[in-house]
Amino acid sequence: MEVDVTRKIPRIEIDHSRCTVPFLCAKCVRTCPQAVFLVDSVKVERFKETDPREPGSFKLGTESRFKCTGCNECVDVCPVDAITITWPQ
Ligand code: SF4
Ligand code: SF4
Repeated sequence: MEVDVTRKIPRIEIDHSRCTVPFLCAKCVRTCPQAVFLVDSVKVERFKETDPREPGSFKLGTESRFKCTGCNECVDVCPVDAITITWPQ
């Protein structure tokens, strides 16, 4: 994949107090055409499955933030208004 390193990259902020069960929701993950988001487990216990229904057990990350085009589709699809996209000046 070719990446234009001169391109400005939007800032993506996730309000984790609103996005509490991202593994169950994952609407933004499925919607983003650039595959920017990743859901990762936060609570890890030996020999136990992490419960996706438990708030805070998973966290939404923006590992591929550099690929964001600022289309705002994730913002529109989020049911709890947890995502904010802003552009650097
Ligand atoms: S603004 Fe568009 S490209 Fe950027 S994270 Fe949201 S859905 Fe993906
Ligand atoms: S759509 Fe909103 S609530 Fe759902 S996982 Fe994404 S940021 Fe969290």
